[in-house]
Amino acid sequence: MEEFVESRKSSKAKRPKLKYRKGNISLVVPEGMDIDEEEIIHDNREWVRENIKKAREFDDKVPERDLRPGGEISVFDERRKIVVEKRRSNEIKDNVYLSRHLVDRTDFMDQLEKALRQFARQKYEEKASVFIKEIDESYNKIFIRDQKTRWGSCSSNGNLNFYWRVVLGPEHVFDYIVVHELVHLEEMNHNQTFWNKVEQILPNYRRSKAWLRDESAKLVFGDRKQM
Ligand SMILES: [Zn+2]
Repeated sequence: MEEFVESRKSSKAKRPKLKYRKGNISLVVPEGMDIDEEEIIHDNREWVRENIKKAREFDDKVPERDLRPGGEISVFDERRKIVVEKRRSNEIKDNVYLSRHLVDRTDFMDQLEKALRQFARQKYEEKASVFIKEIDESYNKIFIRDQKTRWGSCSSNGNLNFYWRVVLGPEHVFDYIVVHELVHLEEMNHNQTFWNKVEQILPNYRRSKAWLRDESAKLVFGDRKQM
């Protein structure tokens, strides 16, 4: 069982804690604490067994992608061909177009990720500028992140952080993440006022929330551990 549990040190944790998130099981150990990891796993074997099952189900949902020139990838739930051709820059439209000289200079996966991130930035900016009209606040800057633990977040100075891999899912999920963070500019908590406002802007937000709960394995790109 131990081989499924990744242990990591934390300066914030006060006691050892087992965690499951997005297909990964980890044992968080307070920095400087000497513990017997095997014993903790053994004492919690029921929990660990259940979560190994969850992690396997997650793995089964990770899409098999054909990531090579001429292959395909879904962006906003639409299958697009990956075309490497002579052009000045990368661009995602009906297909994913990668510039041949950029691919030659770095490598294919590198440029594919760059193109997806760039698309994510453009879409986050576009959507935020539309949905902000529904809100009595304004935002400062948008950052595109690889944050492991959240889809999006907003800081007290009005900066918004978004996870780029969301472009690999349906557009309604992307919209929900944008609206969720924008509404936080007005309402920092997840109280009823918060959810009412989200619903007012996106009447079907519950299906996006459910998608994130059940289907987020579809957002895995590259190494699962990076999620
Ligand atoms: Zn929130």
